[in-house]
Amino acid sequence: MTTSGFRNPSVVVIGAGMTGILLAIELEKAGITDITILEKKHDLGGTWRENTYPGVACDIPAHMYTYSFAPNPEWSHRFAHGDEIQAYFKRVSDEYKVTPKIHFNEAVTESSYQNAKWTIKTSKDKTYVSDFLISATGILHHPAKPNIPGLERFQGKCFHTAEWDHSVPLEGKRIGVIGTGSTAAQVIPEVMKLGKKVSVFQRTPQWIVKVPDTTYTEEDKKKWRKEPNLLKRFHKWYTFAVEQTFSKAVIGKKIPHMLMSFLCKRNLRTSVKDPELRKKLTPNYRVGCKRVIVNSTFYDAIQKPNADLVTEGIEKITEKGVVTKDGKLHELDVLVLATGFHPFHFMRPMNLTGENGISIETAWKKKVQAYRSLFIPHFPNFVLMLGPNTPIGNFSVIAMSEVQTKYVLKIIEDWRRGKFNSIQATEEALHRFAAYLKKGMAGTVWLGGCQSWYLDPDGDPAMWPYTWKQWEKEMKTPDYNDFSLTTQ
Ligand code: NAP
Repeated sequence: MTTSGFRNPSVVVIGAGMTGILLAIELEKAGITDITILEKKHDLGGTWRENTYPGVACDIPAHMYTYSFAPNPEWSHRFAHGDEIQAYFKRVSDEYKVTPKIHFNEAVTESSYQNAKWTIKTSKDKTYVSDFLISATGILHHPAKPNIPGLERFQGKCFHTAEWDHSVPLEGKRIGVIGTGSTAAQVIPEVMKLGKKVSVFQRTPQWIVKVPDTTYTEEDKKKWRKEPNLLKRFHKWYTFAVEQTFSKAVIGKKIPHMLMSFLCKRNLRTSVKDPELRKKLTPNYRVGCKRVIVNSTFYDAIQKPNADLVTEGIEKITEKGVVTKDGKLHELDVLVLATGFHPFHFMRPMNLTGENGISIETAWKKKVQAYRSLFIPHFPNFVLMLGPNTPIGNFSVIAMSEVQTKYVLKIIEDWRRGKFNSIQATEEALHRFAAYLKKGMAGTVWLGGCQSWYLDPDGDPAMWPYTWKQWEKEMKTPDYNDFSLTTQ
């Protein structure tokens, strides 16, 4: 009980990335003091700690990719570089006194629920007991390595982009990159500056929109330091612009989709001179079906004399390099796997056990899903931040976390007032929510004839099929009819 008369819950947050830091700040602002953050690695930052590959940057405008309450006048470019973003999260975490709450190098191994409490065990053999358990592990943090025969036989250096080995020199080397997604589009132009030859193994071409990466001057930064309101306006403006273009285009709104298609097609036509190469780089699916890549350097790089775009499928990998289906051996010194992530693992491999001993593996056996992307039936007082169908796409994931955090805080506030001791979404509400999502999917471009990490094993996009505004509106207030509450 606090002096205000409200109960003070204990909250364990898993992960000290962007969402974990945000949660700690907002919980503290609400007067909650018993907050523990368990972080598996030695540092905070999540994605931005893990991804240090050459060229790593955010393809959401920097002034949009900030917490709404912590504008940053120091961004050097329109698209902030990875190290700057990492520094930003560290600074905010220090400023808001989140860092001392983080237990580093402590991975959660199992969590189980009983009698309105979570018991959490960690890799340090410690046990924590809490009223709420919140997973803030993010979506894209389990590197997906390709299942290509012979990969383990390769005698050169081989690593995934999220596990970049900076001890490997690239100067004058023959480098292979498997993949042509958002990550590859950032990596390839950088390794091309160093490598003697860079072979890009493309399975599927991608749509790319060009947005110039403006460099901000000292004058700009001075102005923004003096007038933080300008930055808040920037934040609003970019949010509006991205919503009106990218976000509406992918859910099938005609004019935004025509505009995005025009921009991508024009970019390809005007950037790539050789018609043969252009043909190889032309996707055969609708713009936005895979996440649209925002990039202004890939097309230039792939036309350089030391670039080789390989579109023959990969047959196998040998000690010396990659053999394509035409029998050609592409000899390599370094092989980079820009092959993406497993987006449906979420907080796993930890063992999560809800009421009556139900495991998350059982609960998700048929489908990985969550009510309002946050709550899983039979897992009371457990929240999965950025869960399936969070409106990902080309929008700022920070904005999504902020909306979800407010929603969760409303629920925790009601717990504090004694409205309930435990809360879980009902099966019925989950099914209704799933049907509502399914209905919206029909008009989207994600079913536009491509394979992407957006699709779950059933081929259903784990996305939000309506507008951002609609999502914000529906996430304003929890509807307790959709939950089962207990008061003991
Ligand atoms: P991705 O979009 O999933 O791309 C993976 C690439 O690897 C694809 O080109 C895929 O080909 C290829 N691939 C996978 N397995 C393969 C195999 N066995 N053989 C040949 N090719 C294979 O992954 P990502 O580029 O890491 O991006 C994932 C997401 O991370 C992005 O969509 C974005 O949300 C986020 N991201 C964001 C930024 C940013 O700036 N904010 C930067 C990087 C990444 P197919 O297309 O044929 O499957």
